[in-house]
Amino acid sequence: MHEMGIALEIYRQCREAVAEYGSGRIEGVKIAVGELSAVEPDLIAYAWAAVTIDTPDAEARLDVRWCPARQTCPTCGEIKDRVDGSWLRICPGCSMPLVVEGGNELDIESIQYLSDDDDGGES
Ligand SMILES: [Zn+2]
Repeated sequence: MHEMGIALEIYRQCREAVAEYGSGRIEGVKIAVGELSAVEPDLIAYAWAAVTIDTPDAEARLDVRWCPARQTCPTCGEIKDRVDGSWLRICPGCSMPLVVEGGNELDIESIQYLSDDDDGGES
């Protein structure tokens, strides 16, 4: 499950970002996951829980914003009725090869954290 490595990397980047503002506990992280990024939203959520469970951020939520790829035909425009998860090589309307746009997202979009400056900072 390669999501474990990805979750670790996301967590590392979050901790780095929070460290810039002093110490604190991460409350929630929002990430964008593209359809073509080869990341399963369910698995990344599971991996996130496993990565954070022994840290002060064990309660941190992971919100996944799913970003579907768009398939467009050079002549007909966007193919709107593609079934989720299915993939077409040619346009059902005119048989032209389709162009793929988007869907490669794998980004941290926002981090919510709680400063622990005032609670003694005991781990
Ligand atoms: Zn077409």
